[in-house]
Amino acid sequence: MPKTEGTEIIELEKGVYARLHDGLTNAGIIIGDDSVMVIDSLRVPSFARDLISDIKYISDKPIKFVIDTHAHWDHSWGNEEFPEATIIGHQNCYKEMIDLEWNKQWREKVVNSGDSWSEEAKLVKITPPNQTFEKTMRLYFGGREIILRYLGKAHTSGDIFIHLPDSKILFTGDVAQNEGMPFFGDSYPDEWPSTDDKLIDFSVDKFIAGHGPIGDYDDLVNARNFLHKFIKEIKNCINENQNEYDTTIKMINLLEPEFGHWRGFDRLKTAVPDIFKKLT
Ligand SMILES: [Zn+2]
Repeated sequence: MPKTEGTEIIELEKGVYARLHDGLTNAGIIIGDDSVMVIDSLRVPSFARDLISDIKYISDKPIKFVIDTHAHWDHSWGNEEFPEATIIGHQNCYKEMIDLEWNKQWREKVVNSGDSWSEEAKLVKITPPNQTFEKTMRLYFGGREIILRYLGKAHTSGDIFIHLPDSKILFTGDVAQNEGMPFFGDSYPDEWPSTDDKLIDFSVDKFIAGHGPIGDYDDLVNARNFLHKFIKEIKNCINENQNEYDTTIKMINLLEPEFGHWRGFDRLKTAVPDIFKKLT
C-alpha cells in the first residue's frame, strides 16, 4: 500500500486504524457507514493532505468528522484542510485555539524552529473546533459507540480521550504515551495526576497516543505512575526549599534508572524547570 514516508497504518479492529508517524504526530482513522472520522489533523496543511491521501487507500468515503485531542499545533494545525467536516473538540480546546496570544507564541516557536515545516507554519489558518462539549459526547458511527470524554486539565486545559468501549481502544492525545515524555510547557501539574487516575479507569486493551508506539493497559498505568512520581517529587523539592537548578539535577538522577530509556527523557532538562515555575 503506498503511503507517506515514515508512516505506518495499523488496523486495530475492522474499520479502526492508528496511523503512526515515526518521530512526529500520530492520527486515528475510523470508517463509518458513509463517512470517515479522523482523530487529529496533524501539524501543517501538507501533513493533513498526506493523511487524506493515505486514507484514500483505505476508504473512498468522505472525511466528515475530525476530532482534536487538544489544541497543540502538531495535532490541530491541519484542521483547515477539512472545510466540510465537523471538527469536534473540548470547549477549552476551542478557547485555546482562538486565544491570539497563545497562537502567536506557538507560531513564533514553530516558525523559528528551522524545521522543514517552519515556512508553511507562517501561513497556517488556525481553525478551531466548530462543535465543542464540556464533559462527554457520544457518537454512534459505523455501528460502534465512540465516547469522547473530558477528565480535567492535564497536558493542556482541553485534553479529551476517545474511547471505543466494545473494542477497548483508547486514543489519549498527549496526556499519556507509551514510554514517552509528554511536553509540560502548557500543562496543569496540580490537576494532571487526578486526570490520570480517571484515565486508568477506562477499560483498555490498546491505547494510541499522539506520539510513539501503541501501548497496552500496563503501559497506560506506567504513564500514570511516571506522572505521579514526577509531580510529587518536584513538589517535595519545592517544600524542602531547593532551587530550580538543584531540583532539575535531582529529578533527572532520580528518574533515570526507571525512565531513562523513554522517548524524550532529555526533555526533562526543560520540563522540570517548567513545572517548578508553575508550582512556585
Ligand atoms: Zn500536545
